[in-house]
Amino acid sequence: MDDKWTKITHCLLEKNHIRIPIQKRFFLYFVEDDETNIQKEKIIDVITSSGFLKDDPRLSVFRQRLKTLVKSKQINYEEFSYCIDNHISILKKIFQKDIIIPDFKGFCEKIKDIYEQTKIKEGGSVADYIPQLKQQDPTKYGISICTIDGQRFNIGDTKYKYSIQSCCKTINYGIALEEHNPEYVHTFVGREPSGQSFNEITLNKEGKPHNPLINAGAIMTTSLIQKEKTHSERYDHIMNVWKDLSGGIGEVGFNNSVFLSEKNTADRNFAIAYFMKETNSTKTIGFPENTNLHQTLDLYFQCCSIELNTETMAIVAGTLANGGINPLTGKRIFQEETVKQMLSMMLMCGMYDYSGEFAFKIGIPAKSGVAGAIMLVIPNVMGIVTFSPRLDEIGNSYKGIEFCKLLGQTFNFHIFDSFQSETKINPLVSRYQNNTINKQTELYEACKHNDLEYVKILFQRGVDFNVTDYDKRTPLHVAVCETHIELVKYLLQVVKVNKHIQDRWGHTPKDEANNNQKLLELFQ
Ligand code: GLN
Repeated sequence: MDDKWTKITHCLLEKNHIRIPIQKRFFLYFVEDDETNIQKEKIIDVITSSGFLKDDPRLSVFRQRLKTLVKSKQINYEEFSYCIDNHISILKKIFQKDIIIPDFKGFCEKIKDIYEQTKIKEGGSVADYIPQLKQQDPTKYGISICTIDGQRFNIGDTKYKYSIQSCCKTINYGIALEEHNPEYVHTFVGREPSGQSFNEITLNKEGKPHNPLINAGAIMTTSLIQKEKTHSERYDHIMNVWKDLSGGIGEVGFNNSVFLSEKNTADRNFAIAYFMKETNSTKTIGFPENTNLHQTLDLYFQCCSIELNTETMAIVAGTLANGGINPLTGKRIFQEETVKQMLSMMLMCGMYDYSGEFAFKIGIPAKSGVAGAIMLVIPNVMGIVTFSPRLDEIGNSYKGIEFCKLLGQTFNFHIFDSFQSETKINPLVSRYQNNTINKQTELYEACKHNDLEYVKILFQRGVDFNVTDYDKRTPLHVAVCETHIELVKYLLQVVKVNKHIQDRWGHTPKDEANNNQKLLELFQ
């Protein structure tokens, strides 16, 4: 790959081969065909084996065009060029292997090995405090992965739906943090591991729940979410966050019988809530004013009863790994600071009474749920979700923990692992060298090729849109020059770029509009 890239960079340096020809050369190099005979299957194969699956919204138009508009197996460059239009940035990344796990196929082979080795391990038993959990099929076992570039892999029973249970605690904490500032949230809940069982009726010395990931803390953070709104509005709000986190892949559902059972067997959770309410009268802390206790508990049980599969939940985990931006839709769901706080809490308290041990041995922020899911977040790399209903004595999925142990032995994913490790595999590419320069080059390229979706991602990433190149031209100059109306509109109205910057010939972006009325109107 390096060799190819060097050749291409040399082409770039040749005069007369700038811009369009270089695109052509680039793709032909990576497609390894000549320009009249490009093999469709081969392209699809590269994309799929890199982890960009069929339902990836970023490539849906490309796949559609390739499938329906071009019937023959081989296509020429003009047809290919039509298909790649609007998707140039992501396709270049894929072909150039500028993705967080460049050898995704090799990586998945290793994951498959770990899956096979742990599938045959037997231990633990299914939660039985409500019939709906007891009835779960104990043999189900699935692993799903989503990287920060949206590379995905699923193996096993990844379509089997389960209730998220305690995994909701992390997200509710995040939602509360987004709505209020962390200081406010932490006037009601602490940040220390409790050292006690997740559903213990206990508070810290200040009368607060120890942290947001045990039941007391989760009930408290739930009470902080949109507390002025109606119950149904609060529920919708939480569901919408889950939908955004999963990027519309799969379904975020609700299991009403789990909810009803949870509610009917919730003496302990009621006791915890009343215990916290009681502190309102004796101490300064307790629930925020005007908290409706029963509504809060119902909302918490409803959150525990949200239902999805590992394929969908892996995208949620991938969004957290990606600093709060959904890798598939480019939408920001949580601020970076919020995610940092959520992950810190997961690392310290996410795995019940095994949290310290898990942090020590595996070193990956994780959250476990009593239905059998474990949601792992490897910051800046990927989210992984394991599901298997049999739980160990502490309450974590037996197979899930076995998977994590082998994962930790194979890859340097422990947050304190060295990248130079001699004994563990480092599947990452050091893509963040020259990060700023790369991102700016990408911005110009995306503006030239009308890749609005990628421009949006770069904007979310905080890339400077008022940069100028050697000719003092801005991304807006390029977009106007290419007559990309929607893109120009986005740059002017959403990004609010500086439209007065003159290039070295003294031209502002508006001067490039060439009497195009639609463009000129945007500059009014
Ligand atoms: N619904 C359960 C409870 O609140 C959640 C338990 C869990 O996943 N640990 O007790």
